[in-house]
Amino acid sequence: MPTAFKEARLKLQQRLSYTSTPRAINDSTHARGVFVTRAFVLAFLAALIGCSLACSHEMGSASGPTSKSNESADSKSAEAIHQNALVLDAHADIEIPGRESRYVGEDGLSQVSPEKMRAGGVDAVVMSISVGPGPRDQAGYAAARARADEELAAVIAMTNDPSQTLVLALTADDVTNAAAAGKGALILGLQNARILGRDVSAIDTFYAAGVRVFALTHLGHNDFADSSRPVYLGDINAHEPEQEHGGLSELGVQAIERINALGGLVDVSQLSKAATLQVLALSTAPVIASHSNVRQLTDVTRNLSDEEIDQIGAKGGVIHVAPFKAYLFDSSDDALIERIRAARKTAGIQEDYYYPFELYWEIKDTTVQMKFLRSVSALLSSVNVEDLINHIDYLVQRIGIDHVGIGTDFNHGSGLPGYADASESLNVTKALLESGYRPEDIEKIWGGNFLRVFRAAQEVGL
Ligand SMILES: [Zn+2]
Repeated sequence: MPTAFKEARLKLQQRLSYTSTPRAINDSTHARGVFVTRAFVLAFLAALIGCSLACSHEMGSASGPTSKSNESADSKSAEAIHQNALVLDAHADIEIPGRESRYVGEDGLSQVSPEKMRAGGVDAVVMSISVGPGPRDQAGYAAARARADEELAAVIAMTNDPSQTLVLALTADDVTNAAAAGKGALILGLQNARILGRDVSAIDTFYAAGVRVFALTHLGHNDFADSSRPVYLGDINAHEPEQEHGGLSELGVQAIERINALGGLVDVSQLSKAATLQVLALSTAPVIASHSNVRQLTDVTRNLSDEEIDQIGAKGGVIHVAPFKAYLFDSSDDALIERIRAARKTAGIQEDYYYPFELYWEIKDTTVQMKFLRSVSALLSSVNVEDLINHIDYLVQRIGIDHVGIGTDFNHGSGLPGYADASESLNVTKALLESGYRPEDIEKIWGGNFLRVFRAAQEVGL
């Protein structure tokens, strides 16, 4: 950790007056199950083999749960705080039962399965209908739409299954009512306007189907906006330019206006910096970043610059940090950067990428590709929950406790030792408490802030 940052952390701890007074536990309002790990090993190596050109994230390398052996008074109050809070994850990807996936947990199941949600005291998850890059022609749009429709149907099926005790939440009140009734809430998100083709009115179709959170880009530019991660085009052996539209296209502008008008929540995660700043100038409601970390601490294009952070905060929005190793490592660690560069050079890909895994799909030799992914994974193996808290601290210092949340990107390569899936969410509350956050701060981080902007966006749309 950079020294300057350690000092900032100390100041934060002094500023937030520590309290260990547990809040009353209201067991009747939260269903709590027991999660039994069914650990059949999904071998990391086997998963690596499955990586293809379209991979947009590196492999997850989540370790098993770490339990603290010495149960202290602090951890008891952490449990009470955690149970009392509305625990919400602002971004996870959708696993379709029966479809092969390289992003599931080590047990082969979704990292945000209903069982893991209950075990981890997670009340709500934004499940993001999402596609990666692909052809921008009618066939490509149709394929993206078909995939999106399949994911949408999978989430609706989960909420229609009475045994899952999940509801589809269309409003902030739906989320709090579900928690009060002992049920989990799923909120639908959509990521990548390639799903819409070039049709802005398709936003209305997805809104009518229940989607409430809209992110215009994923990996790669599309017809609506530039991505923070231009993509390598394997078929023509070329890289996308850094910018295609210089931010939002005219379609992108229309999309933001339409999302605002409907009362949807605009999500700036994965937009280019220019596009993010244009969205902030344009949107009539506060926005979220559903899964983005701090670029000042981890210098990858996918993370948010101070300018973006400041403007999201000034607009009343919320930045949700993700427990994603490649977006959390300490990029001021020169020795680590040198090792990452060396691994990239050995694998024959461009060295000058701080995002450690980026462009791995260019490595044609599968053996070399696997070796590269394993070596970088090993270099990042020490990234842990403390690093996640560092990013939270930075944001709290910069824009305040009302503008920070958590969005995991589970089911998409995310996970840390001690926070490998939803069942381990309590460990984040413990770490926040140990870092000096008060129960009311933790409640804001875990869902209070998201619900505030969710309501604000809906009011703008009325
Ligand atoms: Zn994702």
